[in-house]
Amino acid sequence: MIKITLPDGSVKEFEKNSTPMDVAKSISHGLVRNVISASFNSETVETVTPLTTDGNLTLYTWNDEQGKKAFWHSTSHIMAQALEELYPGVKLTIGPAIDNGFYYDVDLGEHNISEKDFPKIEGKMLEIARGKHDYKMRAVSKVEALDFYKKQNNPFKVELIENLEDGTITFCDHDTFTDLCRGGHIPNTGIVKAVKLLSVAGAYWRGDENKQQLTRVYGISFPKQKDLKAYLELLEEAKKRDHRKLGKELELFTFSQKVGQGLPLWLPKGAALRERLENFLKKAQKKAGYEQVVSPHIGQKELYVTSGHYAKYGEDSFQPIHTPKEDEEFLLKPMNCPHHCEIYNARPWSYKELPKRYAEFGTVYRYEQSGELHGLTRVRGFTQDDAHIFCTPDQLDEEFKNVIDLVLYVFGSLGFENFTAQVSLRDPEDPDKYIGSDENWEKAESAIINAAKEKGLNYVIETGEAAFYGPKLDFMVKDALGRSWQLGTIQVDYNLPERFDLNYKGSDDKLHRPVMIHRAPFGSMERFVAILLEHTAGNFPLWLMPEQAIILSISEKYEKYAEKVLNLLENNEIRALVDNRNETIGKKIREAEMNKIPFMLIVGENEEKDDTISVRKHGEGDIGAITINEFTDLINTEINRTLKTF
Ligand SMILES: [Zn+2]
Ligand SMILES: [Zn+2]
Repeated sequence: MIKITLPDGSVKEFEKNSTPMDVAKSISHGLVRNVISASFNSETVETVTPLTTDGNLTLYTWNDEQGKKAFWHSTSHIMAQALEELYPGVKLTIGPAIDNGFYYDVDLGEHNISEKDFPKIEGKMLEIARGKHDYKMRAVSKVEALDFYKKQNNPFKVELIENLEDGTITFCDHDTFTDLCRGGHIPNTGIVKAVKLLSVAGAYWRGDENKQQLTRVYGISFPKQKDLKAYLELLEEAKKRDHRKLGKELELFTFSQKVGQGLPLWLPKGAALRERLENFLKKAQKKAGYEQVVSPHIGQKELYVTSGHYAKYGEDSFQPIHTPKEDEEFLLKPMNCPHHCEIYNARPWSYKELPKRYAEFGTVYRYEQSGELHGLTRVRGFTQDDAHIFCTPDQLDEEFKNVIDLVLYVFGSLGFENFTAQVSLRDPEDPDKYIGSDENWEKAESAIINAAKEKGLNYVIETGEAAFYGPKLDFMVKDALGRSWQLGTIQVDYNLPERFDLNYKGSDDKLHRPVMIHRAPFGSMERFVAILLEHTAGNFPLWLMPEQAIILSISEKYEKYAEKVLNLLENNEIRALVDNRNETIGKKIREAEMNKIPFMLIVGENEEKDDTISVRKHGEGDIGAITINEFTDLINTEINRTLKTF
């Protein structure tokens, strides 16, 4: 007998060679129907893998991330089989699951695939799926494996196998198809009920542009037809909310080939929006005891050699700038931290003066390949809402809680209600990998966990995921379309204080190293505005909107009254504008709706006579005629609903 421990901690005995599916059977019928993959002692196994030792078993369904991954990876095998049948001689390379679906990189030889071939491939895939073929793993010797792919004339799989150790190589078979694979499949192809190929793109073997060009086919699959339908609707909605499209329509930002790829240009409305976000955070940071600092956009190469950034990123970064006469070398700033370390180093500190919290909206530059650039989410120059806290190890606990408060305040004020946190700790089995004393690591890790607990965060702990220089806390935010974004990392750092020889005088009169915390609730202004645009579809919280109201005159006769209303609104710090054009009121309303202006204030004969405005709310309709004072109250109530004081 073997002892199987389930995630809830319960332990059950099973006969040796029982499978995860047998375990599911002992739990419930529902689970037998829904279990699609499993992990045993943290390793991926098949639902039919015989278990031979005691251990921890987790069963996954479609509702688990790991279940989806197994589902999509298994579908990539089905697609590979369909491609082999439809395009004889096609050479397979790799076919992993990704966040949303899967892809397979193939060498099509003389064949070509375009979107118009998708229905044919999807049809073939569904035909294979309906055969309910079991996925069967088998071990093969290295010789056998090489022989199989040499016969197929497939140099890619041969290269992969050559790098594997004999005795660890497995094939997966289903129907007439065989693939080199480590495993992690659903029980059989019949579970796949809906497939959709999404796109086809070029890719290089091993991602190396000097190597052979391959074709990458992306797809996604579902256990129910209705799940596919919902997904396609989501894609449609995501297209509408694409920040590149909305940014243009709302005149927030632009790019110019002349200025250069990946270098956003903020238009007046976008710049004003950014400024509001900056002021919002600056105000909260001031209350939280941060001090603003300013540092230059370039720094001497030596600075980044000291910080270690040069060794890590130098080669793959913008190359040094040389001065014409003195032969000095400068780098575009890739990070603000080294500069802030030198600001800390400008004078000696006593423990009584710590923590120091230096904040800067610092613009940094990082080289990204042109193919990787994407709107505002992947750029070459961006501004971080950066801050570095220098504190004693004993202050970490308090500082961490304060940073979490600030991050939660930011999320709350901007309408991100759905988020989880991940605590990344070091791998206790491998202590040599990390810098800093055991004592300090223990202090920092318990500080993070305590803070997460005390703040009531919904968090998971990932052991072994910490950076070599310190543990961290990441927030994963879900947007309105259910997509996850990483925002608001809080990182503890023992490395830079060491490299920059930072210190403070302790109560024992001796010098000690401070701990450093890096944090940026927005991440970068560019990426944050992009996420916010897609989350809100351009309907930002009212306090942030470029224009909060537009005054629409029924005809030119009411121009004077419209101007008077504008003045009154401006006196109440409401951002508004007037549309006095000689157009119909219907057209003016339609355009204001398109521009997502939250309130439309219609003024005509009655309004002028009664000293009122007729209010229409974006996306909702008429509210009726009210006075300016009533309108100001309405706006303030709405703003105070989201924007609390910190
Ligand atoms: Zn596989
Ligand atoms: Zn930093």
